[in-house]
Amino acid sequence: MNKCFIYEQKPIVCRRIIEYYKDVTSKERQNKINLIWLEACGCSGNIISLLNANDPDVVYFLDEMVNMTYNNSLMANEGEIAIERFLETLNTEFILVVEGAVSLKSNGLYNVVARYQEELITGMKAIKMASEKAKYIISVGSCASYGGPSSARPNLAECVSVYDFVEKEVIRVPGCPSHPQWVIGTIAHLLSFGKPTLDEENRPIIFYGVTIHDLCPRRSYFNKKIFAETLGDKECMIKLGCKGPLTKTDCPIRRWNSSDNWPIGDNTPCIGCAANGFPDAMEPFVKF
Ligand code: SF4
Repeated sequence: MNKCFIYEQKPIVCRRIIEYYKDVTSKERQNKINLIWLEACGCSGNIISLLNANDPDVVYFLDEMVNMTYNNSLMANEGEIAIERFLETLNTEFILVVEGAVSLKSNGLYNVVARYQEELITGMKAIKMASEKAKYIISVGSCASYGGPSSARPNLAECVSVYDFVEKEVIRVPGCPSHPQWVIGTIAHLLSFGKPTLDEENRPIIFYGVTIHDLCPRRSYFNKKIFAETLGDKECMIKLGCKGPLTKTDCPIRRWNSSDNWPIGDNTPCIGCAANGFPDAMEPFVKF
């Protein structure tokens, strides 16, 4: 077996994923809802972030929760066989997850996701085909949810968010990348209880209900107007450019990498990666 980047980074998880995907029609997977995870115009950081999931981990997610029939990074199938899995899934009940923005330039040709029977399938076309039939649509990450870095100036590929491109309801799960628990938690809610309560921007309020500023452990410094003067100081970093007051996520209590740490916990101002307008509207990320 050839080693891949993911394999080297996550040997145990990756081996189990590859083993899992050997038989995409196994009986154990037949009762779970199908899930297509498309990687459109972006960096694929969200599917890599998903591999960092814990409690539950990605193996539980794939074994017990969904039948992921198509994903560019994780599936063992390649080429036309892979895209046939995608096409077959369109005739079933399925959840569509999209990461990355939709490139509109040249009829989508700046983002080609597959070639099938001599035809190039663009991200734009794949998203259109799948979104028309999906039971639920989730935009994962800031590019899919708001345009994100893919639509940042000068936006040569003419990227727009999945939310703006698709004519059906899209649940936004932004972040750059999105936290794996926000993604798996949203899907778990869909499977267990139906659609979660969404805010005015269609984000699940269970994860995006309050700002980082509301939950920040440095908030008492802010309230007393005691501010950090340089990176590494322990006080509130608003004068260094912190975007916590503009950004709604539960990062301060959920934290990242198995809850090890998070940007402000590591003396870095929040750059607003999950907020509408990131990155252009959040610059400069740090002020000195
Ligand atoms: S560091 Fe940022 S999020 Fe924390 S209190 Fe200051 S401005 Fe708010």
